Amino acid sequence: MAFDSLSEKLQNVFKNLRGKGRLSEADVKAALKEVKMALLEADVNFKVVKQFVKSVEERAIGQDVMNGLNPGQMVIKIVNEEMVSLMGSETVEIAFRPGKELTVIMMVGLQGAGKTTTTAKLAGKFKSKGKKTLLAACDIYRPAAIEQLKINGEKQGVPVFEMGDKVRPSEIAKAAMEEAKRTECNVLIIDTAGRLHIDEEMMAELIEIKEACSVFQTILVVDAMTGQDAVNVSSTFDDKIGIDGVILTKLDGDTRGGAALSIRAVTGKPILYAGMGEKLSDLEQFYPDRMASRILGMGDVLSLIEKAQENIDEEKARQLEQKMRKNEFDFEMYLDSMSQMKKMGGLSSIMGMMPGMMGGMGGMAKGKMPDIDTDAAEKQMARTEAIIYSMTPKERQNPNLLNPSRKIRIAKGAGVDIADVNRLIKQFEQMKKMMKQMGGFGKKGKRGLFKG
Ligand code: GDP
Repeated sequence: MAFDSLSEKLQNVFKNLRGKGRLSEADVKAALKEVKMALLEADVNFKVVKQFVKSVEERAIGQDVMNGLNPGQMVIKIVNEEMVSLMGSETVEIAFRPGKELTVIMMVGLQGAGKTTTTAKLAGKFKSKGKKTLLAACDIYRPAAIEQLKINGEKQGVPVFEMGDKVRPSEIAKAAMEEAKRTECNVLIIDTAGRLHIDEEMMAELIEIKEACSVFQTILVVDAMTGQDAVNVSSTFDDKIGIDGVILTKLDGDTRGGAALSIRAVTGKPILYAGMGEKLSDLEQFYPDRMASRILGMGDVLSLIEKAQENIDEEKARQLEQKMRKNEFDFEMYLDSMSQMKKMGGLSSIMGMMPGMMGGMGGMAKGKMPDIDTDAAEKQMARTEAIIYSMTPKERQNPNLLNPSRKIRIAKGAGVDIADVNRLIKQFEQMKKMMKQMGGFGKKGKRGLFKG
């Protein structure tokens, strides 16, 4: 699978970071050095890597830790955000002319990149969006190209316009445009000829087509397996004929990932779609955020981080922290922290999104699910909650007030055994003692990323 090796390396770097409760600047620098190596080995453009690492470092060093995350997780969050922005942040759609006007799209690229296949794949996408599409076969040099487009067009239920291989491609394109207008199509996709390498003749032909039929979008198809070559090809095509976007094919293969991560940063042009296989349905819209989480091997962990960000009540968290510092931890706070957790969808939802949550982000690499029975844990939480709710507010703040007869009443009220009540109180006392031993909580005050 694409990115496997890069993913694995990055996850190893993060595993080391995650284990640490506090990070020094040196920790972060060392981790980023490894990130840099991993990216270079994945064939990401050198300048892109340099800039990337610099941005992450600058942000990490100036950053406070967000509530709900530890410093290692914070660094991962920054790496992820920078990676998303490297790939363009937003998903970019292919642009169409307004209303019923015909949109002419020209597909360009080197031979073998997957142009003809992708043309048919796109036609399927447009069709499902309700656009009436015509395909034009303008690759008159590659022997089987016209036939291939016709077969694939038929599979997609989209007509193909062709004039054999003896007519100038720009003439075919012009005639195809007339045909598209006559048949009231919304879109015309022109499949053009590629060469093994970029040459002047190919570029001249593409410019001729572009001018002959007022092309609205020029889309470059590049093979992700070719790494930095794909990036260079993109730059050259953009310089010579101007491109509006890139479709990256063969991301289902064993690509190292360099092209996906560099193209946008180097050319400024968005990746529109990703080819994920030879079948005509194997074309996926390109989502920079999803791609980044895939590269980081994080699955839905990032949505969890986002959720934490949205739901953690900053004010409550601050109060909690202050109380803890003064060693005033009480059952009210216990309830508060449980309700924060519920806001995030409860224990099972958190566990589902973040395997290994219980040990920090420790077990999440490779998506291993730790052996925790979330059902039982949630029931236990509900019982604990019921017990606390059966206490008076005064008792919640000062559990020392709980005498045996009160404990019996509370057990009854919560529908639990008195032993459960005693156990909870004991656990609570232990927790308080532990906090005292830790000498208060985070006395430093500032929740910075680094110690000292
Ligand atoms: P063209 O010369 O640019 O028109 O390239 P083709 O469309 O003929 O594609 C070249 C080869 O790449 C064909 O065997 C396609 O099936 C294959 N191909 C195209 N896109 C993909 C993709 O996304 N994944 C995989 N695995 N193969 C692809």
